[in-house]
Amino acid sequence: MDFETIIGLEVHVQLNTKTKIFCSCATSFGDIPNTNVCPTCLGLPGALPVLNKEALKKAISFGVAINATINQDSIFARKNYFYPDLPKAYQISQFEKPIVGLGSINIEVDGEIKKINITRAHLEEDAGKNIHQSDYSQVDLNRACTPLLEIVSEPDMRSAQEAIAYLKKLHSVVRFIEISDANMQEGSFRCDANVSIRPLGDKNLYKRVEIKNLNSFKFIQKAIDYEVERQIESWRSGNYDKEIIQETRLFDTQKGITRGMRDKEESADYRYFPDPDLLSVHIPQDLLDEASNIGELPEDKLNRFINELGIKKDDAKTLISSLEMARFFEDMLDSGASIKNSVTWLNVELLGRLKGDINLQNCGITAQGLGILVKRIDEGKINGKSAKEILDSMLKQRNNDVDFLIKSLGLEQIDNDDMIISTIDSILSANSDKVNEYKSGKDKLFGFFVGQVMKNLKGVNPVKVNEILKEKLK
Ligand SMILES: [Zn+2]
Repeated sequence: MDFETIIGLEVHVQLNTKTKIFCSCATSFGDIPNTNVCPTCLGLPGALPVLNKEALKKAISFGVAINATINQDSIFARKNYFYPDLPKAYQISQFEKPIVGLGSINIEVDGEIKKINITRAHLEEDAGKNIHQSDYSQVDLNRACTPLLEIVSEPDMRSAQEAIAYLKKLHSVVRFIEISDANMQEGSFRCDANVSIRPLGDKNLYKRVEIKNLNSFKFIQKAIDYEVERQIESWRSGNYDKEIIQETRLFDTQKGITRGMRDKEESADYRYFPDPDLLSVHIPQDLLDEASNIGELPEDKLNRFINELGIKKDDAKTLISSLEMARFFEDMLDSGASIKNSVTWLNVELLGRLKGDINLQNCGITAQGLGILVKRIDEGKINGKSAKEILDSMLKQRNNDVDFLIKSLGLEQIDNDDMIISTIDSILSANSDKVNEYKSGKDKLFGFFVGQVMKNLKGVNPVKVNEILKEKLK
């Protein structure tokens, strides 16, 4: 029997506001524990939450990016549960009437475009963090009350590969519209995966297992693959009813398996009710208009690069692989570099030299610096070989002064015809025997003459040397 996999994803994106969602404490990551706290985010009696307008704006921008219905009237609700990192014993979230209603994004898997529907996206506050030591635990409430956007998809994905494509697309969208740094290591973009299986052709939905808190694409893929395999095996061995329960599981990254954590709560367990401390939200038209101005989405940028700039699809995909890349490339063009050479020198030459922990942001090369290097190639001031040497020096010295490096490395391409002609003349007269051999048919000697000229005139334009030599040897 063949099976079909059904995957729905819930993604938590931490919004990059300066302050928390219901108080004015800072949201910065990695500060000394319990320093960014106040009566509101500590949940002290009498402290009242006030909604951060920036968080609301960013949620709306996301809704616009996925072509969703924006609910101009929405409400906050209390989600009640007890946990040490949740000082109020409830989380302020949204249940009925979320800010963002039904929308969708397109993903591409194996060259095929598929639409994934997004049920909703709502604002909520994050909880604090429990830090478990060997024989005790500590609670850090710096993260409590930081703004999250929870994005809930329909169960539209049919493989781990589609789930990853969806997540990468979502990651890229929130980065391009700059509502989150989406840093997965810091937990600013994390995912819960709901996974179930059914016999192919069956239209029923069976028991759904939720795998919690996945924060790397690699682990998400592994966790889903493992879970699908586990469910199929128990179905095949006739133990599905007994072994598979609707529950929450955690992925053990060391062993590569999922493990039961607790029974999955249903929404009734959380006793949602409207938060009486917060007014209902009405989004005025001017805020809606302002938040709708989201800049260019990754897909639109890709299409523009291909259709308007004439860049090959694979190259364009590399260029939009991150906001930093796209920006770097566009800044190179702004510094006057040609499109074709910019693509090569960014995608191939610079990226090819970045190894290990070195990336575009920390390599020390600026878009302006690489742009000028490309411009000098475009102008014929340096040739490709010299440019590679210069780029190596730029990286090594973290120096973006291209013109200084061209001079100090003595790599200025010699384009002066008189100089090339006189050098060629003296080389030909010093090697008259070889000239005669060449003229009597020993074509291979042409390379020898070129080599001699290049040696005598370091940095000479090889195209010109070839042209003039051919003329002289006729
Ligand atoms: Zn606070």
